[in-house]
Amino acid sequence: MMEQFIEIKAANQDSLLFYRMGDFYELFFQDAEIASRALGITLTKRGKHQGEDIPMCGVPVHAADDYLQKLIAQGHRVAVCEQVEDPAEAKKRGSKSVVRRDVVRLVTPGTITEEKLLAPSEANYMMTLGRVKGQGGSASGNGDSYALAWIDISTGSFKVAESAADRLLADILRVDPRELIVADPIYHDPELRAVFDVLGRVANPQPAALFDSAAASGRIARFYGVATPESFGQFSRAELAAISGAIAYVEKTQISERPPLARPEREESGSSLFIDAATRANLELTRTLSGNRDGSLLKAIDRTVTGGGARLLAERLTAPLTDPAEINRRLDCVSFLSAETRLCEALRAVLKGAPDMPRALSRLALRRGGPRDLGALRAGLKAARQVLEAVSAAMLPDGLKNACDALSSLPADLSSNLDRALAEELPLLRRDGGFVRAGYNAELDEMRALRDQSRRVIAGMERDLAEETGIRSLKIRHNNVLGYYIEVTANHAEVMNGTDAAKARFIHRQTMANAMRFTTTELAGLETKIANAADRALQIELAVFDAMLEEVVSHAEAIRAGAAALSEIDVAAAAAVLAASENYCRPVVDDGLSFHIDGGRHPVVEQALRRQLADPFVANDCDLSPEGDAKHGAIWLLTGPNMGGKSTFLRQNALIAILAQMGFFVPAAAAHIGIVDRLFSRVGASDDLARGRSTFMVEMVETAAILNQAGDRALVILDEIGRGTATFDGLSIAWAAVEYLHEKNRCRAIFATHFHEMTALAEKLSRLHNVTMRVKEWEGDVVFLHEVGMGAADRSYGVQVARLAGLPDSVVERAREVLRQLEEGETSGKAARLVDDLPLFSVAAKREAPKPAGGGALADAMESLHPDEMTPREALEALYRLKELA
Ligand code: ADP
Repeated sequence: MMEQFIEIKAANQDSLLFYRMGDFYELFFQDAEIASRALGITLTKRGKHQGEDIPMCGVPVHAADDYLQKLIAQGHRVAVCEQVEDPAEAKKRGSKSVVRRDVVRLVTPGTITEEKLLAPSEANYMMTLGRVKGQGGSASGNGDSYALAWIDISTGSFKVAESAADRLLADILRVDPRELIVADPIYHDPELRAVFDVLGRVANPQPAALFDSAAASGRIARFYGVATPESFGQFSRAELAAISGAIAYVEKTQISERPPLARPEREESGSSLFIDAATRANLELTRTLSGNRDGSLLKAIDRTVTGGGARLLAERLTAPLTDPAEINRRLDCVSFLSAETRLCEALRAVLKGAPDMPRALSRLALRRGGPRDLGALRAGLKAARQVLEAVSAAMLPDGLKNACDALSSLPADLSSNLDRALAEELPLLRRDGGFVRAGYNAELDEMRALRDQSRRVIAGMERDLAEETGIRSLKIRHNNVLGYYIEVTANHAEVMNGTDAAKARFIHRQTMANAMRFTTTELAGLETKIANAADRALQIELAVFDAMLEEVVSHAEAIRAGAAALSEIDVAAAAAVLAASENYCRPVVDDGLSFHIDGGRHPVVEQALRRQLADPFVANDCDLSPEGDAKHGAIWLLTGPNMGGKSTFLRQNALIAILAQMGFFVPAAAAHIGIVDRLFSRVGASDDLARGRSTFMVEMVETAAILNQAGDRALVILDEIGRGTATFDGLSIAWAAVEYLHEKNRCRAIFATHFHEMTALAEKLSRLHNVTMRVKEWEGDVVFLHEVGMGAADRSYGVQVARLAGLPDSVVERAREVLRQLEEGETSGKAARLVDDLPLFSVAAKREAPKPAGGGALADAMESLHPDEMTPREALEALYRLKELA
């Protein structure tokens, strides 16, 4: 047996091997050590290998799901190894023969299907990365093309999109896969090191053969049983590599079973609002910076009532659209359901009970499903019918009409077959039987009657025998050894075997201390019949199950489309409910450059304040629309004290843009948003110290990315650039960044800063406006109004804020003193002078360096210096030389 184990283990090095032994899965050697620690179960030993004890632990098969869940959650992969023949078969080969075993499935984080292992409201993606090397093979990797494919095996959804080296991480994190499958050489490519560092254990390197692009078309065609994958549409070579890699990995992990995957659907690049990884994290869209769902935008806006709806909502939130027509189609649905409140509530009532059809379907197709999965489909199909009934009289907008068309195309006969075949109450497991409805199959009914009537028949027989023998205490009993038997007390033995006739009638089975046991031919016959009937009944039920399963799987595509339609209706209704309860408005979305929000609020902070029974959220306007005949949007320079509400304001405007473009109403009195194609933010101090970068370095890297990439349709949100360094450094960098945004990027932007000097820039930059968070001073304290007003803050109130924070009084007093002295020393109008002295960056670059005073020798000496090439020590020496010359 150990030989067999070692052989199978060798083929599954990167997984913990669950080795089936009777009613247990056992783990050996290092696997046992890892699993016992991870699961908190006892480590024991079994036998010896090369003179050493073999560490062993085991989990019962019936509870395996729970243990699998724990292991998967901790990032382990598990290979499930089953007995693939009857032990009797093995015995026939010889008494020492070991039962044949094989790995029947690899359980990995990205390929699970069990209800227990999945979160209902979260997709579970396995993603693959395809790469095709560029022509010329430049060392820097330029010209390589990338594509990502992602599958949710639990629902069968399959998507693919092009990517590029510089946006790879953002594209991966948007989908947030549980597992990213990459070819070994790509995984070890130093150029992509940073990407895989961030992904950590999610990245799973696999042999490059999985992605062999020459074999790609063939593999895809084989999987779908088509002649060529071109029938699904045109895919690039990188996309084909990613798709075929995904299929290969599904085949590798599912082994003999094949999940019903939808055909790969291509996501056009540019069809969704691009949000880079840092922005996505900072805006806390689906998770907070600390990793919780509570406190995220998703949690704040989720009013869906189905798992599928919740997953669709998350998908929409991570990929807001850029096509105004499509966005307005979604908004029309929300408007419609907002007006039709009765219909909306009726739909939600139906959906609330609707089960997760695609997940049930996948489990069935993978032969992991049970009667309750069939039941889920029955209930889902019923919900679909009820939805259609509910909307029958309504004039639906396009989006809902399309969804209802998909519901109408659901197979009606499947639905009625399931209704007819399935019992009301369903057992978890097929082998428990009892899930086929009475009246569905005549033979089954007969067999069940036989089995179920057994008690009555036997009770009747007991009565008859007591009468026949005259033994009132005669009993018919059952045990596992004898089966059914007649029992009389020892003093009545004579009646049963005193005569030849009696002996012939009552067959002796067993003599006990004070009882004797017999059987009769009728009783034995009845017993066989009962046992056979139960077996036969189960057989019939299993056949019915298989037939239903086949029928369900043959309609996979229609079922998936129907389920998607239910999810869409759920999301639209949820959006309407959210809009009504939170008082959101329908935004105007078009392809202009407007960004005009009246009375905007922060969707998450607003709800949090309400929960805390704090003062209500103060609504604020924002207008970055091009003014007059300007061709570009505006920049707001936002000043104000710490705690004034600057970050909240920045974020709320970004979130409103996201909500609008995902086709949701927005927390505002009115909003007009011209499509944003890229959203950038540099907010909060997302420290990256673990990767050895200082806060300031991270800030600069993120700022650089924004300045290098933002085009005139972008929306940029910058908070306190230049804070992480010395004041003048920081001010200069912030200053230059604003100039660059205004002159080069020309995008809509909000720039929050505590450098009041910068407000002077408004004089020079025509599309820059100063706004400030209003505060009131009251008896030396500062009161935050959280109101955005035009103009600049006159002071920063840092000392007052420090006092509010509880700094010791003596420190606060001393700080006031120091501040007063500093302010007295400062020449007035300094900021204005800064403007005059410091022209725009574009001019600055061209300006001649001034000749130093001090004559030719000094000038020559300076000319000969190359600061970039000097060591600090050489620089110091040069400085002394220059000083001597001066
Ligand atoms: P800053 O970035 O200026 O330091 P924040 O945006 O972090 O300030 O806001 C500070 C606090 O003020 C937050 O705790 C938030 O709850 C509250 N706040 C911010 N904006 C508003 C608002 N518009 N209405 C009510 N409370 C607000």
